[in-house]
Amino acid sequence: MVNVDEKLEPILTDVLRRNAGELEFHQAVREVLESLGRVIAKRPNYADNALIERICEPERQIIFRVPWVDDKGQVQINRGFRVQFNSALGPYKGGIRFHPSVNVGIIKFLGFEQTFKNALTGMPIGGGKGGSDFNPRGRSDGEIMRFCQSFMTELHRHVGEYTDVPAGDIGVGSREIGYMFGQYKRLTNRYEAGVLTGKGLLYGGSLARKEATGFGATYFVERMLATKGHSFEGKRTVVSGSGNVAIYTMEKVQSFGGKVVACSDSGGYVVDEHGIDLDLVKEIKEVRRERISEYARRRGAGSHYISGGCIWDVPCDVAMPSATQNELTGRDARVLVKNGVIAVGEGANMPTTPEAVRLFQEAGVLFAPGKAANAGGVATSALEMQQNASRDSWTFEDTEKRLAGIMHSIHDLCAGTAEEYGAPGDYVLGANIAGFVRVAEAMDALGV
Ligand code: GLU
Repeated sequence: MVNVDEKLEPILTDVLRRNAGELEFHQAVREVLESLGRVIAKRPNYADNALIERICEPERQIIFRVPWVDDKGQVQINRGFRVQFNSALGPYKGGIRFHPSVNVGIIKFLGFEQTFKNALTGMPIGGGKGGSDFNPRGRSDGEIMRFCQSFMTELHRHVGEYTDVPAGDIGVGSREIGYMFGQYKRLTNRYEAGVLTGKGLLYGGSLARKEATGFGATYFVERMLATKGHSFEGKRTVVSGSGNVAIYTMEKVQSFGGKVVACSDSGGYVVDEHGIDLDLVKEIKEVRRERISEYARRRGAGSHYISGGCIWDVPCDVAMPSATQNELTGRDARVLVKNGVIAVGEGANMPTTPEAVRLFQEAGVLFAPGKAANAGGVATSALEMQQNASRDSWTFEDTEKRLAGIMHSIHDLCAGTAEEYGAPGDYVLGANIAGFVRVAEAMDALGV
């Protein structure tokens, strides 16, 4: 573990104490504070006015009851969360996650990461995150609709196009956003398209939003590979997950000439030495909402499914963890390094454990942290907000071109900042410092 600068140590201790037991939040804060020693050495004023303490404390945290009626007529209860982390740069912005693992610590870690990620995009968006411990798996469309409506019945009083603009995340796609938008419209009598992003195209959504996180992560990694004279062309790539981020990462990697040989879901993973057939993955995951094990059954010879197991045992040149937090451990990093991995790009939020990040960096593996590499989703959400505000809609090509430009500038900002602070090639340090400086300067200017 890297040591936190001695001036920052008491701040970290205080955050850990005040947020007892919230391990993912601790992990995210520690990683950022580890990077900030170099900033306060250069700019001691950043340690003034409790700026760092304030950045680690959410502006507002809302926890609420979500009652809903299942198909059997039983009343069910879940817990809803919205953590409005930081609004120095713009309205709170960040996704909503429906997953049984959701608790206040997970939402806080995600909101904290989101604040810096959103700052890196250079767009006018603050950071927030929300969700529920609701498990959508196996639920009917009617149950999903009633849950989303109940969730928005409480959330609607806390959001708005100038206040807080949620979007999707794990377990929340355009279907759920549609049901939430419908309920917001019903309750407020306002067609306020800018209140949510990731909407369907008929009611204010943006072309390329669905593809944006995966495409963006691939643009980032392609540019990172180029700094060492590499590209995706001919590279064996493993992408964990098979949700929205993973699917569009695979699509872009393939279009850049890479060969995606494996993907997964929470039950296991599939290996396909001919290269993953993306149409089949989309059919299974987006249309039929089935498990990835179906892939091997339907694809037949040349592919196989491994129940449980670890996708990182599949040898590859590039690894794109795109499932969930802490899915790639120190043990997995050792295997990947031994198998010759040259680059790792985080499509998910904090999928790599701190030990694994350190092992990659020590081995000279290019490592792109999620708060930079997966910023394409939220950046395109900000483009959706621009289209909503101007009552306009742009073409797919135009939107994707802007996305590519944003990802390239995030890459160059992280690489340039790492160099400026004496750690060339350290994208973790570059992203943490560049994101922090933008948020800190805005907070400072706005006063206490
Ligand atoms: N959930 C995505 C993220 O982690 C997107 C958030 C958004 O578009 O607001 O960045």
